Amino acid sequence: MAQPTSTSLMKPETLALHSGQFEDKNAAAVVAPLYLSTTFERDENYELPNGYLYTRAGNPNREQLETILATLENGSEAMAFSSGQAAAMTFFQCLKPGDHVLVPDDAYYGTPSLLQDFFTSWGLTFSKVDTTKIAEIENAIRPETRVVWLETPSNPQLKVSDLQEIAQLAKAHNLISVCDNTWATPMLQNPLNLGCDVVMHSTTKYLGGHSDVLGGALIFKKKGELSDRARQLQTLGGAVPSPFDCWLVVRGIKTLAVRVRQQSANAQQVAEFLESQEAVEKVHYPGLVSHAGFHTSQRQMSSGGAMLSVQVKGGADEALVFIKKLNLFTPATSLGGVESLIEHRASVEGPDTLTPKNLLRISVGLEHAEDLINDLRQALAGL
Ligand SMILES: *Cc1c(COP(=O)(O)O)cnc(C)c1O
Repeated sequence: MAQPTSTSLMKPETLALHSGQFEDKNAAAVVAPLYLSTTFERDENYELPNGYLYTRAGNPNREQLETILATLENGSEAMAFSSGQAAAMTFFQCLKPGDHVLVPDDAYYGTPSLLQDFFTSWGLTFSKVDTTKIAEIENAIRPETRVVWLETPSNPQLKVSDLQEIAQLAKAHNLISVCDNTWATPMLQNPLNLGCDVVMHSTTKYLGGHSDVLGGALIFKKKGELSDRARQLQTLGGAVPSPFDCWLVVRGIKTLAVRVRQQSANAQQVAEFLESQEAVEKVHYPGLVSHAGFHTSQRQMSSGGAMLSVQVKGGADEALVFIKKLNLFTPATSLGGVESLIEHRASVEGPDTLTPKNLLRISVGLEHAEDLINDLRQALAGL
């Protein structure tokens, strides 16, 4: 299929299907063929006819995925990696020893762990800040600060940070603003359009969408020194996804818009139900008026998303009993797949975690909302 010429006027639903398409001259296949070849033949002039040399440096399936990701996030360039962590790792490796990074106090635990356990010995320093408060960010900026890393809504407390306001502050202080957009997906929130410089994704989650492929991505607003360095590290470091991994994520993205729309509508109903229940202490969901980030999320997201956290009355024991009584929510880590998952984050994060012991994180899937609510009702009745 030919690449549409004027993509800028099209909506994300259309772009998810039509951007990055390449013509299959061999068989005219509608779906892109899988190029497992690790190496590519030179022609009689010893040139590379399609530009591909070796799969670590470039592959048609990876290029297709990168084109789609750049298009959906409105970036100039995208790089696909073998996991979200490989993408984050590559970004931090683009910095220099001595640089200082600001990270949210509530974030995917792997991000601060990577900084603490590996990059401090490499010379990076970092501070945790409450990125929902602009004054806290401003106060934490030092002369050597280079980056403000953001994650909104955050994991696991669904805190919402104002991307536009923070990106402006970052520009004024010459900082690079990066947003981990995994939880919102490009269908609900586009950080680059709000002024951020870089978007990071774990494509393992909503983009893949079926809990069957690991992947990550970095998307850059502008091509320049930073993106060139990341591209070089992608090739030299070699944390690249396999062609089949790319093919699976491309397939997942085709249904991203409808999945996220439905899963988010289900999550809104589930959140409203949970909030009305006697056995529930607190629900964290950006689509609830009671949520501290409700107004900001209304401005920067097109819906509340499909992730929520709930604190049941009691402690860890009550939370774990609740999980055991559920039938439709699989107790497993991860998120963003078609099936609903539930997780006790404090158990996963260990004894030092700031996550409340009675908090359960829920990834709402594509089951019917009524079935999900009935299951939650019977489990709460047993507490
Ligand atoms: C899962 C996740 C990551 C890490 O991605 P992997 O693909 O597991 O390496 C990073 N950030 C967020 C918000 C995540 O949910």
